Amino acid sequence: YRFFLTGANGYIAQHILSQLLEDGHSVRAVVRSQSKVDMLKKSFSKYVDTPQLDFAIVPDITTAGAFDAALESTPPFDIVLHTASPFFLRPIPNSDYLDPAIKGTTEVLHGITRVALSVKRVVVTSSFAAMYNMAQNPISDPPKICTNEDWNDVTLEEALATINPMFTYPASKKFAEKAAWDFVKENKVNFELAVVNPPGVYGPLFDPSQIAKPEDLNESTGLIYNGLLRPDLKSTDPVGTTFLYLYADVRDVARAHLLAATVPEAAGKRWFAVAGELSNQQVANYLREALPEKSDVIPIGEPEKGSWKPEGWYGASAPEVEKVLGLKYRSAEETIKDLAPQLLEIEKRA
Ligand code: NDP
Repeated sequence: YRFFLTGANGYIAQHILSQLLEDGHSVRAVVRSQSKVDMLKKSFSKYVDTPQLDFAIVPDITTAGAFDAALESTPPFDIVLHTASPFFLRPIPNSDYLDPAIKGTTEVLHGITRVALSVKRVVVTSSFAAMYNMAQNPISDPPKICTNEDWNDVTLEEALATINPMFTYPASKKFAEKAAWDFVKENKVNFELAVVNPPGVYGPLFDPSQIAKPEDLNESTGLIYNGLLRPDLKSTDPVGTTFLYLYADVRDVARAHLLAATVPEAAGKRWFAVAGELSNQQVANYLREALPEKSDVIPIGEPEKGSWKPEGWYGASAPEVEKVLGLKYRSAEETIKDLAPQLLEIEKRA
């Protein structure tokens, strides 16, 4: 197939790009600046100047017709994967969040209906954040079990009234995903839509040499580094509260995108790609095993409590990704232990 991949330089998207190329597909990697093209060319040098890989720059995904020129192609596109969206858990002006997330999504869909009528499937990267309000009390009796039917209850008004990322990020993902579903309902479209909703995504960077210093890590990888590995920590420090117990390996989330794009039954559905539960304590345990040279830094906490979770804390149930799409999830141990040496490498370089 011929793929159009937005946000191609992102943490998840580079694994998508790598798997697409390995599987023999051809891909137009879409980014927002030449420096990102140059970076990808280094990491994917094997495919540069082959018919399998080309690039397009869309500097501002919020402008009308933003993707139109990039969507024109010979041979034409079969599948569009839209991953580009801001993901930071620090306060940024809410227009910097909501506009790129929502307008970025509607612009790419509009563009397809205008200039890329060959496209038969679109996969949008949404999030668990679109499904659950992480600012609410996580404990209930009985505990909430999240499924692919769930939507968070954050309103646009709430999100616009704050710069608290606990509202703005979930709002950006929910309203972007809703905009995509509304678009296919309200317009005569040439494609089917599928959506992937991952929880906390961890695991190795596609190419750690791209990252000059730990501050440049993507948000979910940064959570692990800053929470459990940064040099000013001590092994006697507390492990810290787990922000989100649900995880999936980045390579599996990438594979979920490929499956959502190509499996016929995937069309018209959301795919909640959750591998299982993972606590900060368990991440600390795996990091200590993987990085003995950092044993004075990584908090010890209570290693035997790795699988402990407060009673009544919400969980997840989404067997259909494995059953219908046939995805096999990696273990959390593999996920964290494959990332660990990369974090050390980046820290040493900085
Ligand atoms: P990254 O930050 O590594 O990637 C984000 C991508 O989106 C980059 O290509 C980035 O481009 C692009 N982007 C961000 N803001 C804008 C903007 N304003 N205009 C155009 N492009 C923009 O994060 P991830 O790979 O983790 O995220 C990819 C997707 O996965 C996002 O949709 C995110 O919401 C979703 N997700 C991630 C999870 C995780 O734990 N990592 C969990 C659930 C969902 P640039 O480099 O130029 O900024």
